[in-house]
Amino acid sequence: MNTDCLFCRIARGEAKADVVYRTPTLVAIRDINPQAPTHVLVIPTEHVETLGDTADAEFLGSLLVAASEVARRERIDLRGYRVVINNKAESGQTVPHIHLHVLGGRAMKWPPG
Ligand code: 5GP
Ligand code: ZN
Repeated sequence: MNTDCLFCRIARGEAKADVVYRTPTLVAIRDINPQAPTHVLVIPTEHVETLGDTADAEFLGSLLVAASEVARRERIDLRGYRVVINNKAESGQTVPHIHLHVLGGRAMKWPPG
């Protein structure tokens, strides 16, 4: 737990968020600045900054399983959706607590910007 971290506080229910899915070890919330009709963030309760800061396959796998569950619940699983993890400054990561973006509800372009 990092008391200065926004996503630690959201994951613990200490900061307000629109929660769409929760397990004992993670939470999924609607992004405050959505980039697609569906834009949900999967956030683990544990404070890990980036993908490079853990090699715990069970931990990382649980985030992907949750992203898939969120896509089903949001009904974007059949049409298609994108899962993104930004890591560090050049990728555009703004919150240094690992999270998966689950984006859907519109056609996506490739390559991403
Ligand atoms: P990053 O840029 O680090 O990959 O993604 C951070 C995401 O968190 C951004 O899409 C941003 O809109 C979202 N975000 C930042 N602050 C808040 C907040 O207080 N509540 C919610 N729900 N999303 C937030
Ligand atoms: Zn944190």
